Amino acid sequence: MIEDVLFSSAVHLMDKQNRDGGESVSRAATDVRAQNEIIQCDVEKLFMLTEALWTILKEKHGCTDAELVQRVQEIDLRDGKLDGKVAKVNPDCPKCSRKLMGKRPVCLYCGAEVARVDLQPFSR
Ligand SMILES: [Zn+2]
Repeated sequence: MIEDVLFSSAVHLMDKQNRDGGESVSRAATDVRAQNEIIQCDVEKLFMLTEALWTILKEKHGCTDAELVQRVQEIDLRDGKLDGKVAKVNPDCPKCSRKLMGKRPVCLYCGAEVARVDLQPFSR
């Protein structure tokens, strides 16, 4: 996700440089740096929240680090690859069992209305 944002920003900068000879490149680069800092702050907040939640689970419910590591690997392996990334797995249509595309409210193949996937807590 972060890589996509930075790549998109780099392409945007190259496009600007080609169009106006680089006059707005410096300003655009500053925007990219600011955007990167915001993303890094968000990541730090997520690390802290995750650690706080994990500490609560360990203290109040007796969960172990080994259980957490195993669960992380299970999630990582949902797409068959242990690559440190969460797979973007589209759910199946409940009527025709084909893969649902994007966040459309109907199946493209059979027209069945489906629950919006963005309402699921970890859909992306
Ligand atoms: Zn369908």
